Amino acid sequence: NKKEHQDLNEIISTLFPLIETRAIKEGKLVELQLSEISKLFVDKNEIRQLLLNLINNALDAIVAKKSVKVSTYEEHNEIILSIADEGSGIPPHLIGSIENFFFTTKEEGTGLGLPICFSIAKRNNGRIDYLSSSKGTTFNVYFLKTLKNG
Ligand code: ADP
Ligand code: MG
Repeated sequence: NKKEHQDLNEIISTLFPLIETRAIKEGKLVELQLSEISKLFVDKNEIRQLLLNLINNALDAIVAKKSVKVSTYEEHNEIILSIADEGSGIPPHLIGSIENFFFTTKEEGTGLGLPICFSIAKRNNGRIDYLSSSKGTTFNVYFLKTLKNG
């Protein structure tokens, strides 16, 4: 676990070709909306893992022609990473359970992606919340802008 000042937008842009390859194969869209934000004091590899887990979940949740929007912005001393999909949402009775290790609704799922994201967020001064409806799901990761996040 090695924390350094990192440009979140750059991490996202670097991963984009990988994500786009999958999206194109499935006829899905991925949009980036990256604003000017302060640097994060984080472990880059862990943030890459978190991004891939959340974006792959979002792609799993949508059908062809639908999109996933990845955005970054700053608000109230926090740097926010938002991953929004146009899937059919998380059924209300499953909200909460999805944070548990090995919980999956997928034929070939592991149920490890989200619990790993929650612990990565915690280790990197971040927290995650999510909002879901029948029109889609949004995962927000909030990184506290500390003195170290200059
Ligand atoms: P896996 O992807 O292997 O199933 P995760 O821990 O990444 O494991 O996710 C756990 C479960 O949470 C998924 O199986 C799915 O039911 C639900 N989930 C996660 N992200 C989304 C999303 N964007 N839309 C709908 N359901 C989701
Ligand atoms: Mg997953």
